[in-house]
Amino acid sequence: VIEIKKLQKKYDDTIVLKDITEEVKSGEVICVVGPSGAGKSTFLRCLNLLEQPTSGKVLFEGTDLTTLDEKHINGLREKMGMVFQSFNLFPNMTVLENLKLAPKKVKNMSDEEATKTAKHLLERVGLLEKADVYPTSLSGGQQQRVAIARALAMSPEVMLFDEPTSALDPEMVGEVLKVMQDLAEEGMTMVVVTHEMGFAKSVANKIWFMADGYIQESADPDTFFSHPKTDRAKDFLEKIL
Ligand code: ATP
Ligand code: MG
Repeated sequence: VIEIKKLQKKYDDTIVLKDITEEVKSGEVICVVGPSGAGKSTFLRCLNLLEQPTSGKVLFEGTDLTTLDEKHINGLREKMGMVFQSFNLFPNMTVLENLKLAPKKVKNMSDEEATKTAKHLLERVGLLEKADVYPTSLSGGQQQRVAIARALAMSPEVMLFDEPTSALDPEMVGEVLKVMQDLAEEGMTMVVVTHEMGFAKSVANKIWFMADGYIQESADPDTFFSHPKTDRAKDFLEKIL
């Protein structure tokens, strides 16, 4: 679904992504792990062109995103849902309105259909009874589940997650990971930047270990966690496990 070719990203003199060539296949769940400052967020943002790569290509279903103008990028961005650490819900809208906004505005969905889709998704994340409340009255875990449902409302083909549970109180992490696990089991293609190694071990098909602007290891979870190849990865795992 996504092909990344010789991707590079520089900010002034800092080279954040040095040379990344990888591929995300349909139905895969990839967890991107690595130390702080490795370039994980930058990498994820390059996948949907929230960040313009300095060089290299990002192909989404065969189309090179780096050559598209803004209008066409937006069309493709809709197919990649993104969920951030800070939930980024619209505070002045109810939960239901948050979910309905983009489908109506961008996809010209009828109000009736948008409501139906939104309610179905809220049910899926266990929050149908919160449809008419405002996001500020929800817990962090609930807000993040709404954010996931909102991204799903656009029927994306890929979901990108950037540390979706890092801002949550520990007791709320599980409910969000559960929603993500369900999504993975339903076959959603996902790229997840996370520090939740339990989730990475049990849900991911593949781990990308990122450090110093490179994907240093790409392996299935069993291999990565029990037999990391590089000293960099061994060092990282020793520190966190
Ligand atoms: P963390 O685990 O802390 O979220 P990360 O792996 O997501 O880290 P990035 O946020 O991608 O790392 O940042 C990688 C490097 O790029 C850092 O050194 C950061 O300072 C730098 N960087 C990120 N965004 C910008 C920017 N807009 N301008 C300049 N430098 C940036
Ligand atoms: Mg980050």
